[in-house]
Amino acid sequence: MLLFTFSGAQKKFTIVLDAGHGGSDHGANRYYSEYGTLREKDITLSVVLKLGRMLEKDKDFKVIYTRKIDEYPSLTDRTTLANRSKADLFVSVHVNANTKTTPYGTETFVQGPDQNKTNLEVAKAENDVIYLDEKDREMFASYDPKSPESLIALKIQQSKYLESSLLFGSFVEGNFEKKDKRYSRGVKQQNLHVLRLNAMPSVLIETGFISNYDDAMYLASDNGQSEIATSIYDAIISYKKAIERNTATVVKAEPEKPEEKPLKNDFRILLMSTPTKYAGSDPALKGLNYILPIKENGMYKYYYGTTNLASVRDNNLKTAKDAGFRNATSISFVPNQNLGIGYYTLELAVTDQKLSSNSYMLNTLKDVNRVKENGKFYYTYGKFTSLEEALKTRKNLEDKGIKDAVVEKKLK
Ligand SMILES: [Zn+2]
Repeated sequence: MLLFTFSGAQKKFTIVLDAGHGGSDHGANRYYSEYGTLREKDITLSVVLKLGRMLEKDKDFKVIYTRKIDEYPSLTDRTTLANRSKADLFVSVHVNANTKTTPYGTETFVQGPDQNKTNLEVAKAENDVIYLDEKDREMFASYDPKSPESLIALKIQQSKYLESSLLFGSFVEGNFEKKDKRYSRGVKQQNLHVLRLNAMPSVLIETGFISNYDDAMYLASDNGQSEIATSIYDAIISYKKAIERNTATVVKAEPEKPEEKPLKNDFRILLMSTPTKYAGSDPALKGLNYILPIKENGMYKYYYGTTNLASVRDNNLKTAKDAGFRNATSISFVPNQNLGIGYYTLELAVTDQKLSSNSYMLNTLKDVNRVKENGKFYYTYGKFTSLEEALKTRKNLEDKGIKDAVVEKKLK
């Protein structure tokens, strides 16, 4: 039943085929009297077009080419295309070369062990949701790529890509070796730019050495190119089956596990309570993002994260403790609760000197309250009956460039 549901809902398997080099970038080349100058860019395109034609015959596949002619898409173009199309697999086809004529054979590269870190940084920097699939996104309800919980999700995701890439690479090399009787140099991990920024399983296949006579003759021949394309095609079929089997097994193995239901209340992690007011970037907040300060009776309470999922709450608590807030504790908030007594307001600034009426804040907002207390000026804005209302206005202020407003609970 579950298996049926799964295969019924299946979408097309999208593959990006990347013919290495192109245009003014010839890649490796060598002169042989039999063929004249053999150029990597021509061989890779020829193999990719053959492979693409095989895949296009199967309606389960959607094929995207980084190039179909002799042109040069930049490496960034290639990755961006792959990421935008939310591809399931990225296959880059290349031809190897060595200064010596002896090395020969095939090898397939997957992202190196250091890649995970780079991808993670890129994912963080680009603020890009494509790095998370639907399931992960649901799991991390308030998704933000910079938050620690999203980083954990990204790490899991990246290691999943690496595992899948290794699996696919082993199918490719296995076929070269067994079906085509080629010499396989194996599947290797290396930091290669074209694989670096891909948010999907990705491989770079070195189909042989143009610098080796036998390899070069094979790479240049129609038969050789067809064999290479067929071996990659068969590897794609095996890989797709393996992935589907895996997913199906997971679905089958955990049918009892219910989906996590949201809790009635929201949970925030109380990091500390102090009379000191910190800006969001203050080291005292130990690099945590998504801090909400709420002022009550002259004390600033710093809260981290908001969620109504128990798993995320527990994870947030752990993150806070790991960051150094040993006494962090989870506090529950009733959503949209109206204050019976008192109100919420936003504390915009606390200053020793009166702000000039030309200041950005006073120019941008009307009706800012100013109160002098113990020699300091307190600027507040708005009156709200619920925390959510106050937060909405706080967000609007932030969009206008007025940052670090503190929600203040006034109980009078
Ligand atoms: Zn190349």
